[in-house]
Parts: sequence; C-alpha cells; structure tokens
Amino acid sequence: MQTIDKPLRDLDNNLFDTTIHRRKTRPVKVGNVTVGGNNPVVVQSMINEDTLDVDASVAAIRRLHEIGCEIVRVTVPSLAHAKAVGEIKAKLAQTYQPVPLVADVHHNGMKIALEVAKHVDKVRINPGLYVFEKPSSDRTSYSAEEFAQIGEKIKETLEPLVVSLREQGKAMRIGVNHGSLSERMLFTYGDTPEGMVESALEFIKICESLDFRNLVISMKASRVPVMLAAYRLMVKRMDELGMDYPLHLGVTEAGDGEYGRIKSTAGIGTLLAEGIGDTIRVSLTEAPEKEIPVCYSILQALGLRKTMVEYVACPSCGRTLFNLEEVLHQVREATKHLTGLDIAVMGCIVNGPGEMADADYGYVGKQPGYISLYRGREEIKKVPETEGVKELINLIKADGKWVDP
Ligand code: SF4
Repeated sequence: MQTIDKPLRDLDNNLFDTTIHRRKTRPVKVGNVTVGGNNPVVVQSMINEDTLDVDASVAAIRRLHEIGCEIVRVTVPSLAHAKAVGEIKAKLAQTYQPVPLVADVHHNGMKIALEVAKHVDKVRINPGLYVFEKPSSDRTSYSAEEFAQIGEKIKETLEPLVVSLREQGKAMRIGVNHGSLSERMLFTYGDTPEGMVESALEFIKICESLDFRNLVISMKASRVPVMLAAYRLMVKRMDELGMDYPLHLGVTEAGDGEYGRIKSTAGIGTLLAEGIGDTIRVSLTEAPEKEIPVCYSILQALGLRKTMVEYVACPSCGRTLFNLEEVLHQVREATKHLTGLDIAVMGCIVNGPGEMADADYGYVGKQPGYISLYRGREEIKKVPETEGVKELINLIKADGKWVDP
C-alpha cells in the first residue's frame, strides 16, 4: 500500500493557494488607462454604431463609459470612417471627457490605419487580414522562400503604422482570430492554436525589430477549448522568448442570452483563474451595454475586482425557515449599492453560520418567524423576520458602513 508520509500541502503548494497569481506583464498605456503591469483587469467593449455618424457614436461611447467600460472600440472600414474618429474624439473631449479609444482596422487597411492612428489611443490589427494574400485555388503549400517573401511584404506594410504609434506613445493590439488566419499560416501550421500563435509572433517580431513594444495580444476563437489552448500556448511561447506582453481575452461569436454569457465566462474565467489576462471583452449579440455587467461579474467572482456587493446565499433545503429567494431579493435591493461588502443570506442556523464564507454580515434563519443577524461569525441579535432587512440595515449603519443609495 502506498503511504503518504508528507502532508499534502508539501507535495503541492499550489493546492492550498487561494490567490490568483497574475502573469507578470508589461504595462501598456491606452489613453488614460493602463493595461497590464499591476493594474486591475481592464473592461472593454465595442460600439456598433456606424462611425460616420459622429453624434450617435459619441453618445454610444459615453453610455458605455458611464457604466464602467474603460476602453471603447470603434470600427473603421474606410478612410472616411477614420477621419470621423477624429471628430468623435474631439467631441467627446468637448462634451464629456476623453475616453480611451481603439480602432479596428480591416482588410488592407494601411492608409486607414495611418489616419486613424492620429485619433485613437490604440489600433487593433488582425494579422490574418492585414496584408491580403490572394488565394489561389491550385495552391496547397508555401515554400519557405514564399513564406519569407510575404513576411517581408508584411513588414514593409506594417512599418509606417508601427513608427507612427511608437512616436505618439500609442498602443497596438495584435488581434488574431481563429476564423481568419492567413492562407499562408493555414497551409503551414494548419487551422490550429499553433498557427494562431505563429501568426501573432510574426507581427510581434516585426514590432520589436522597430523597437516598438506597446503591444497587447489576443487569440480569440469561437470555440472555448481552441481559445484556451491558443492563449496558453501564446503564454508558453512568450515565456520562452522572454516576452511579457499583456493579453486581451475574449470568446468570439459567443451569441446571446444565458449561453452567450456562460460560454464567455467559461473561456475568459478559466484563463483569468490561471493568472492569464489583462483586459477582457465579453462579445454578446446584444447591446454592448449588456456586456459590461458580465465582465464585472466574472472579475468579481474571481476576486480580481470588487465593484459590487458579494452575496453569499445557501441554495435552501428542507431546513430553510423563510422564503429565501424573496428575502435574498429584498436584501439585495436594499444593499446592492454598498460596494465592498460581503453579505450572506442563509436558511438556517444549523449550517448557515459555518457556511457564510467569512461574509461581513449574515442574515440567518433562527426559528420559525425569527432570524439572527451576524457580524462576521458573531451572532449580534435575534429579530422577528418581518424586521430582518430593516435591522440588517441598522446594523450596517451602526458600524459606519452604510451610505445612502
Ligand atoms: S444553510 Fe441550512 S437551510 Fe440553507 S441549505 Fe444549508 S442546511 Fe439548508
């Protein structure tokens, strides 16, 4: 029989570690927000207004920024759109405040990228689309020579943008998408995480050769296991190469509703729990405003940011002494503005107090018609259930932790 002669703790220190150790990355400034370094994970989203409609775009950016979106992306399919971003930027500064903006540059977007780089804080390019390689139906492979030749063409095309961003102290996101790898990468590495990583590395190396390192990298895919593998491989390769670029996490085409949220959380949350990721976007097929609460919930659940009250509640069972769902709702409505507190609502005193997970305050079923209020693990007083929520508020007030909504 195998014996364990050492405590489990010694065999694997990580097993008992409740802290997320974030991967060390370099700080990259995007306007007045910094991605990476020791900064909190940054929340971002994208407006879906036509960028040519300056007023609607300004309003949409403002709406997102007001609810906590820290970086806003806009799309620039043409030179006219790129110029409109200049007006958007100016109008935001005049009527609201400067908001960190990112421009998404599409196919063969060199001129557009150069124009928009004057107006935004970060330019996102997709290596698979940046230099368009004309697909030919009879081709099945690329020779090393052809591969390198196209690499040279990419460098030539990318260089002016890199120089412009470097000189302005702005940033670039090298945003690889599983669904749009270049034909050259597809033929050489297949439709794989490896192809995605090589695609990003090629662009990173060009930037580094031009002494530009204000880079953020993304490896998005619509399938969560592909996305996870691509980001993990990217981290491994960057570690081997001594690169410390921050990562932008996202699951593309996650869809809408509950499943879209769960799918995004499965991808983004898994990596964040491993310490990977410096900025996130939840892509939903819904209004972009709907994405921000999901981002914050993921970050709050992992303890990476605290932007709301953390509620702990038991699932209820035969021992539950009150309508838990209704009381939780009432407690939430009364206290949801108290950022920073942990509040537990537990059905009974048998298991409730022990399972409150170190909440700051507890509302626990005591006996039929009565509940007990807790401060941490200490039972403070028994009150009739009808007075429960009011007394909880009084207790928080007495502790000086209450603010009016
Ligand atoms: S805390 Fe009590 S009421 Fe809630 S699930 Fe556990 S045993 Fe049931």
